[in-house]
This record gives sequence, C-alpha cells and structure tokens, in this order.
Amino acid sequence: MATKRRTEIIVETERVIIVHPQSASVRSWCGACSTQVEMVTPEQAAAMIQVTPRAVYRWVEAQLLHFIEEPDGRVLICRNSLYGQISESQ
Ligand SMILES: [Zn+2]
Repeated sequence: MATKRRTEIIVETERVIIVHPQSASVRSWCGACSTQVEMVTPEQAAAMIQVTPRAVYRWVEAQLLHFIEEPDGRVLICRNSLYGQISESQ
C-alpha cells in the first residue's frame, strides 16, 4: 500500500522517414500534364520547395497542384505543377 512507484514516462517523438530509392521517384500519368511525370508525396514536395506540408495540402485542396490519389488514400503530387507553384508564389 505504501509503495511508492516512480513512473517514468518517456515520450518518444521519433519520426523515421524511410525513403526507398524506388518510391523516391514514382512516375505516374498526370492527366493535367498529359504525360508521365514524377510524383512526390506532400512531405517530399514540401521539403523540395521549403514550405510546410500544410501549405502543400492547402494547394492540393485549392486545386493549385496536380495530384493523384492512390487507392490507399495517399496523395501524390505532380512535380511539374509543384515547380509552377513556386514561380507563381515568388
Ligand atoms: Zn501535372
């Protein structure tokens, strides 16, 4: 009853981002470009143009970027449209 227990709670906020060489450059058909383009994840896109992933998702929702939705719900962004977005915001 009188036992004092010290509980240590270690919150690990470790994020492991695994970039597979193959998935790093996914090529897929972009309907808006009418060609095969390189597709990146919103996180990769954000890192590439140095914005937050949030900004990328906002552009996706605003249809400012070309994107495809994978069957598992993941969004992949057309790299061509990403670069178009940088030149417009600068
Ligand atoms: Zn495109």
